[in-house]
Amino acid sequence: MIVRLVLWLAALFDRHMARSSASTPQPPNPLPDQGLDEMIICSLPSVSYNAEADARLAECAICLMEFVDGDVTRVLPHCGHGFHVSCVDRWLRCHSSCPSCRGSVVAEEGCYK
Ligand SMILES: [Zn+2]
Ligand SMILES: [Zn+2]
Repeated sequence: MIVRLVLWLAALFDRHMARSSASTPQPPNPLPDQGLDEMIICSLPSVSYNAEADARLAECAICLMEFVDGDVTRVLPHCGHGFHVSCVDRWLRCHSSCPSCRGSVVAEEGCYK
């Protein structure tokens, strides 16, 4: 009788533990948002803005100024968003994602192998 009670309590405890551990899921591989290496930032393409050629780039999402012909912009290769070089360089020194869409600026892991 006592043994059965102990087993019952053990089973109850197990179930409780399983439920409480399931309610606090650990985030998988939290990646800290670190800035990019100066070398990587410099290797991103920069172009001189031309309103006719870059019609889809209207303004810099960082400083919210409209681009004017001759502005030097850096276009992120993966998402195609463009920003002033000085604006985006400052941003990328402490972030590794696009300031507009939060997409990864550099190629995902695996491409360099
Ligand atoms: Zn800007
Ligand atoms: Zn983007």
